[in-house]
Formats: sequence, C-alpha cells, structure tokens
Amino acid sequence: MAAGITIQAPELQARIAAILRKAGSSTEEAEAVAANLVLANLSGHDSHGVGMVPRYVDAVLEGGLKPNTSARVTLDTGALLALDGQRGYGQVVGVQAMELAITRAKDVGSCVMALGQAHHLGRIGHFAEMAVAQGLVSIHFVNVLSRPVVAPWHGGDGRFGTNPCCIGVPLQAREPFVLDFATSRVAQGKMRVAHNAGKRAEPGTLIDEDGRPTTDPGVVVVPQPKGGFGALMTFGEHKGYGLAVACELLGGALTGGGTWHRPADQARSVYNGMLAIVIDPQRLGTADTFTREALEFVDWLQKSPPGPGTDGVLLAGDPERKAREERRRDGIAIDAATWGEIGAAAAKVGLPAA
Ligand code: NAD
Repeated sequence: MAAGITIQAPELQARIAAILRKAGSSTEEAEAVAANLVLANLSGHDSHGVGMVPRYVDAVLEGGLKPNTSARVTLDTGALLALDGQRGYGQVVGVQAMELAITRAKDVGSCVMALGQAHHLGRIGHFAEMAVAQGLVSIHFVNVLSRPVVAPWHGGDGRFGTNPCCIGVPLQAREPFVLDFATSRVAQGKMRVAHNAGKRAEPGTLIDEDGRPTTDPGVVVVPQPKGGFGALMTFGEHKGYGLAVACELLGGALTGGGTWHRPADQARSVYNGMLAIVIDPQRLGTADTFTREALEFVDWLQKSPPGPGTDGVLLAGDPERKAREERRRDGIAIDAATWGEIGAAAAKVGLPAA
C-alpha cells in the first residue's frame, strides 16, 4: 500500500487536475474541480476533498458523470430560476447556477434557485461563501441521490442520504457566518476517512446491518457479513431527522431532481439536488438594522465565558478559516489508503500511480 503523505495545496491541486484532465475534462474544468476539492481539504473537510476523485473517475468511466457539461436553465421568471445540472461536475454546474442566482438576487432582491441532477456538489459551504462574498444571505437545502446511508429516526436501515443544509450570512467588515453541515451525525465521507485510518466512530453515530448501535465506521463503507450495510444516524434525534426530510423534499422533490425511494445500487455516481434561497439585505429595507443587530448579537455571543474544558465560543465558519490558515502553511495530510486510491484512479486513466 502507498504511504500517506503531507503535501502542499498547489502540488496536490496540480496532481488532481492532471487526473481529471485524463478522465476527460477540459483544462479549465479540471482546474476548477481540483481547486474546489483542495479547498475542501484546506477547510478541514477531507470527506469532501480529493478523496472523492477515485469515485468521480469511476463515475465518469461508468457514464454517470459527464465531463465538460454545463447547467441548463429550464425556467427563468425573474426571482425564480430552475436549472438542470445535466449530470455535470457539481463543482462546475453548482457554481454556474449560483452565479446566476447571485446576479438575480442583486437585480430583483431575492432569488429562489432550484438545481436538479448535478453530480456531487461537494462542500455546500462553497456556494454560500460565493453569496456572502457579495453581501448576500444564502440558504441551501440539498438531497443526495446515492446509496441511502442514513436511517430515519426510530428506523433500522438507511433510507436517504446525508442531506446537507447550509446558511450563509454576511457580517459587515467581519468574517461571515457560514453554517454548513450534513444532517447525519457525521458526513458519510468522514466514515470513509475514519475507516481508511483505522479509527472508531463516536457512539450514537451508526447502526449496523441489523439496526444495532455500533462504532465501526466500516458498516457504511464496506459490505457487511450478511451482504448489506449499516447506516448513519441523523444529528439531533427527531429534529435533525426532520431537517433531513425537509432537505429531501426541497432539494429533491421541489427542484425536480428527484428523491430517493429504492434499494441501493452499485452505481458510483452521486447526484445532488439543491434549493437555494438568496436574499439581498440591501433590498429588504432592513439593511441598517440588519448590519447593526447582527454585529451586536455576534459580539454578545462571543463574550460568553469559555465553558470548562472548551476553547470558548466560535462562530460557524471559524473552524474552516482556522484550518485553511494552518493547512496552507503546513500542507494537507492524506492518509495512506486515500492516497493509494487516488493513485489507483490515476492508473485507471493512464497516469503513473505515484
Ligand atoms: P461538521 O460536523 O464539521 O460541521 C461543520 C459546521 O459546523 C461548519 O459550519 C462549522 O463552521 C461549524 N462548526 C464546527 N465546529 C464549531 C464550533 N465549535 N462552533 C461553531 N460552529 C462550529 O460538518 P459535516 O456535517 O461533517 O459536513 C462536512 C461537509 O460535508 C459540509 O461542507 C457539507 O456541505 C458536506 N456535505 C456534502 C454532501 C453532498 O452530498 N454534497 C453531503 C453531506 C455533507
């Protein structure tokens, strides 16, 4: 097996872009997807970083992921936009869709954007960061069409995906609030990373293929003794479960992208549907109050004394910013199994494995 490595972001990005180019992407697309994946690693979310590349290469070779494909506008009525991702790279069609939604929100004050049939959109916070950088609020509900890896509250097997939810709020002259999370207790990709690294999951995260609690991340990564898989649990008990269902109904059904309601298949492609609501606070008539009240609340919040044994109060988005600073300086550590899988993906498209 290949050894794990620590690698600087530009070098990693060049390696990933080369693999994606060989898998059929234009130079521009390969660079954009590679940059997005490396930024996920830099942000501390290895689950949505370059470790996805072997799966993307397989999905391209299977025909489920279409390189060099743009999002197609299927409806445009001003504040309502619908797009078909046409199974293109989510890192590309998602950005195209968000660019349109941002322009529209600036023009008319808000935009409800429905994107269906995007291949894996990666880290959803990426899209909220695009909006907050323009001073806009951005809310995202996303479903996942792949293996159903998350169990409903009080259910005994996986019925839906890790359905992420994300809210971005700009804070004047400060770093923005970017809340971006899977509605499962942890992202499925984090279980792949844990399994590859030989680590256990926190209790309360997983059930095995018989519906019993377990801490073995392998139950959602490799086929189990009876041939099935275990499942992840939702965060926040019935409340996180409810939000996961909302993501499926809004990101899957309302966007037209589709919901999951069938047994797992072997396909390597992962599709996301995303409902995004983008709001321009300048156009809502509350901009002055919004700016003042948001900052006063955040200051108030952060004056809370650190709880015993904690580092004190953070704002969503802070951990990713801190990780970026550290990893840009120190490099990105990639475990041996993930680096080996990336090498195997390179070999599949005719590049040297290391
Ligand atoms: P997570 O559990 O690490 O939570 C991340 C969120 O919590 C971030 O907004 C972070 O800033 C905030 N946070 C973390 N610690 C905090 C603290 N101490 N105080 C305040 N805020 C804090 O994330 P996750 O659920 O593992 O999701 C990881 C990524 O996976 C996300 O980017 C998500 O979009 C992505 N994802 C994508 C898909 C897909 O199909 N495309 C599916 C699931 C998840």
